[in-house]
Amino acid sequence: MSQQGIKHQAYIGLGSNLEDPVAQVRQALDELAHLPSSHLLTASSLYRSAPVGKLDQPDFINAVALIITALSPRDLLRSLLEIEHNHRRVRECRNGARTLDLDILLYDDLQYNDAHLTLPHPRMHQRAFVLQPLSEIAPDCRLAGHGTLAELLKECAGQQFERALE
Ligand code: ADP
Ligand code: MG
Repeated sequence: MSQQGIKHQAYIGLGSNLEDPVAQVRQALDELAHLPSSHLLTASSLYRSAPVGKLDQPDFINAVALIITALSPRDLLRSLLEIEHNHRRVRECRNGARTLDLDILLYDDLQYNDAHLTLPHPRMHQRAFVLQPLSEIAPDCRLAGHGTLAELLKECAGQQFERALE
């Protein structure tokens, strides 16, 4: 549990491919800005990406945001799941279509693993739709044990994405 007033940096991955994904992600960014004991420092552009894993679903809109927060990782996750729930997220199948997905990518340099939360996010280093927006707002970021974002993006060369909007 975080002590009151101690601030942490958390990178949040956002994704949506249902019910006006651009609006879903924009609204979620606004909701991140209003999380308790937190503020939104910066957010990437919006990207459009082809689905990974389960291919028969619409393209995704993705972004990454950096927040400063006094919430503990577990409290932050709880708040993010609440926002997903408010966007009528239904969990039907893994990697399936969703109105909103919010993942904690990084929380300071914390390495953590329990039944509900793994940090850093265990699949972020394999996903161009995370690495590209992250590199826009944190170009010098390195993922411990994996390398620089540029190196990792090269390994995702087959994954399609483009900037969605200016
Ligand atoms: P995914 O994001 O991989 O498509 P879900 O959004 O359905 O999957 O998340 C399933 C569960 O993953 C969440 O209920 C949460 O407890 C767990 N989880 C583990 N680590 C993280 C993390 N770093 N960020 C968000 N959720 C996580
Ligand atoms: Mg998720």
